[in-house]
Formats: sequence, C-alpha cells, structure tokens
Amino acid sequence: MIVVLIETDAEGVTETSLETLRFARDLAAEGGGVPVHGLVVGSVPDTDELGKHGVSTVYVARGEGLASYSAAAWAAALVEARERTGAVVLTAAGTPRGNEVLAHVATRLDVPMAANAVAFEGLAPLVVKRQVAGGAALEEMQLPARPAVFTVAGHAVEARPADQATEAVVEEFEPGLEAADLVGRVVSTEPGVPDQSGDLRSARVVVGAGRGAGGPDGFGAVSELADLLGGQLGVSRVVTSLGWRPHHEQVGQTGSRIAPNLYVPCGISGAIQHWAGCASSKTILAINTDAEAPMMTKATYAVVGDMHEVVPAIVDEIRRRSGT
Ligand SMILES: Cc1cc2nc3c(=O)[nH]c(=O)nc-3n(C[C@H](O)[C@H](O)[C@H](O)COP(=O)(O)OP(=O)(O)OC[C@H]3O[C@@H](n4cnc5c(N)ncnc54)[C@H](O)[C@@H]3O)c2cc1C
Repeated sequence: MIVVLIETDAEGVTETSLETLRFARDLAAEGGGVPVHGLVVGSVPDTDELGKHGVSTVYVARGEGLASYSAAAWAAALVEARERTGAVVLTAAGTPRGNEVLAHVATRLDVPMAANAVAFEGLAPLVVKRQVAGGAALEEMQLPARPAVFTVAGHAVEARPADQATEAVVEEFEPGLEAADLVGRVVSTEPGVPDQSGDLRSARVVVGAGRGAGGPDGFGAVSELADLLGGQLGVSRVVTSLGWRPHHEQVGQTGSRIAPNLYVPCGISGAIQHWAGCASSKTILAINTDAEAPMMTKATYAVVGDMHEVVPAIVDEIRRRSGT
C-alpha cells in the first residue's frame, strides 16, 4: 500500500499532488499493483477526480486541531493513516508543506526521508533519484526502511489520469493529537502579492532572454516570438537584478521552475542556477553567440548567432509562413 498526502487549493487538488499520484501509481505498478490511497486534511476533495487518478480510499483527517495548518498535526494524521492501511510507502509533493510534513513523519517513525525524488530505480531496496542543489545535480538514495518516506519534485513526472479509474471511497477519522503537535501552527494568513508566475510555470512554450538582450529595450523580438508561439517570456536573474524585467518572469533556482515542451533561451549562458529551473524542458533550442556556453552544449538544438539577428529572422519566417 502507498499513502499520498494530497494538498488542495481553491481550485481543488493541486497539480503537484496529481503528479505525485502518478509517481505513486508507477511505483505501485512496479510493486505488483498495490493500492494507492490518499490522505487529505480538512475538507473532502473531489473524489471523482481522485478516483480518475487511481486513488482507492481517500482518508480524510478531521478535528479541531486540524482547522489550521500544523506540520506536526498533519504528520500525526499521516502516521495514523499509515497504521490504518499498513502502507509501506508514504509520499507527498515536494512543496514546502509536503517536505515539512514528511520530515516530521520520518522523525516520528525513525526512518530516513528523501526530498524531491524525480524517479525510482529499484524496489528492494527502494532507490530514488532525487534533485539536490536546487536541481543542478541528481543523487541516488536508498530507502530500505519501511515505510519508505519521500517527496516528489514538481514536474518530475506529468500528471495523468490512471488507465483504469477507481471508485474512491471516503473514510473520515480524527487523529489523536498531542498538545505539542499544535505548538507550531498557522494562526493567521495575509494575502501576499498576487503570484504572476503561474502562467510561466505551466507554459508549453517559453522564450527566454538573458544578458544578451543588451538592455531593457532588447526584449521586443523575444516577446513577439513568445506571443507568436502562444508561449511566455522567461528571463535570467541578471535580467531581473538589473531591473530590465520583473522578477515573476525569472526562471531558475530562485525563480520559476518550468517544464515546457519547447524552451528557447536567447543570450542565456546556462549557469547551474538557471539550469535548475529549466532542466525539465522537453526540447531546448538555444541561441547564443558563444557555441561553448553551457546552455548551448546541453541544448537539443543550438544556433550560434546574435539573438538580435536570429530571433527577428525566426519571427519574420513564422509570419511569412502563417501569412500574418
Ligand atoms: C544563489 C544564486 C541563485 C541564483 N538563481 C538564479 C536563477 O534563479 N536564475 C538565473 O537565471 N540565474 C540565477 N543565478 C545567477 C546565475 O549564476 C547567472 O549569473 C545568471 O543565470 C546569468 O545570466 P545570463 O545567462 O543572462 O548572463 P551571462 O552569464 O552573462 O550570459 C550571457 C550570455 O549571453 C550571450 N550573449 C551575449 N550577447 C549575445 C547576443 N547578442 N546574442 C546571443 N547571445 C549573446 C553570451 O555569450 C552569454 O552566454 C543565481 C546565482 C546565485 C549565486
């Protein structure tokens, strides 16, 4: 059995939780088709959607102490769900909450935990490949203890409904909480600056621009190309640090992680901190004057040239072919 901690937001089950369910299903299939259960804290989510993603039983933890988020209380709920199911794997999305709760779970159960897994390599013992250094490197970690406890990095796999949907059954329970479980809890929430980077993170096409843009006026052609391809503009940290473009457009370790079908980085060297945010791109077409720049050597396709000549030429060609 596998239990997945499921996070929800105003729109329902989060995309990263659906990705984690896909990862869990793949693992379950490798282990002979063991059931995948979900744990939700608080309200009952859309069970139809969870059934489509292969969840057999949705454990819903309720109780006064769970009205607001507390990592220790959520961990107590997950440990109790494990006792109810006899699960051999406990997992969650590698979000701030997922990583925090699973770290508490691992401590309670005195087992190791791997954060931000992107793949599994073996089952006996379970070996996960995980991102470290902000995604710049991968390492393998053995998880021989049971339950195996790990989180799944965002965009490690694509969220996809199960081949066979299940009729997800809801089972509510009230976990036993100690006073200590509620010491560190959310007591108030204030609206932050609206997150404008969501479109970039989910974009299927991203056209990137770095220092090679040359200045705040150097983004016309790349923005036009992004529009023509139905994509978004993404930039390097140099660009945001210099104030050429806003921070919500930054890709990388301290910006957004993207996983588009096509990424077109123009005038971006490909430093590891930038690579950490774009390594999951399926195809990379790099444009740079330096053929030896790391982005050029890692890209699927590389065009050696001045972005101020190459990008307008691509734009013109797309317009010519589409007649726009
Ligand atoms: C803790 C930390 C976190 C960081 N987080 C991030 C992050 O989230 N995202 C990020 O991007 N960086 C991040 N950085 C910064 C990172 O190390 C690099 O400094 C940055 O990515 C470089 O940006 P760049 O590629 O635009 O600039 P450069 O490294 O200066 O590269 C410019 C590139 O443009 C090419 N070029 C120049 N002119 C042209 C032209 N006319 N046409 C085509 N090519 C041209 C050059 O050959 C060069 O390859 C971080 C650094 C640290 C220390």
